[in-house]
Amino acid sequence: MHVKPCPCSSGKIFAVCCAPYLEGRSNPRTVKQLMRSRYSAFALGGHGDYLLQTWHPRTAPAVSAQDLGRADTLWTGLQIVDSQQRGNQGMVEFRASFLDADGKPDVHHEKSSFVREGGRWFYLSA
Ligand SMILES: [Zn+2]
Repeated sequence: MHVKPCPCSSGKIFAVCCAPYLEGRSNPRTVKQLMRSRYSAFALGGHGDYLLQTWHPRTAPAVSAQDLGRADTLWTGLQIVDSQQRGNQGMVEFRASFLDADGKPDVHHEKSSFVREGGRWFYLSA
């Protein structure tokens, strides 16, 4: 049972937010949904397969799903700053909070670009 809040800070329960995407039962229809689900995948760990499946083959890192799914960063929250979607191109600007190696709060600020191919969104680059 996933009655816990979703790691992506949506305020929703995990089971009705990112879980259907991470478990392959549904595909994100918007770049924001994909961004949130990828953040949740990183935050939860153990979802390297999902991260690779949603990473465009052109820019995906040459690492195993096991390595990618290793939750070696303690992510503490996600804030979507801006997002745009036009045709098959998308952008999401976000701030992801985490604790650094010394346990101090820090923020990863990124503008990610996404592309839709065959009806599915992929993470392209930062
Ligand atoms: Zn979520």
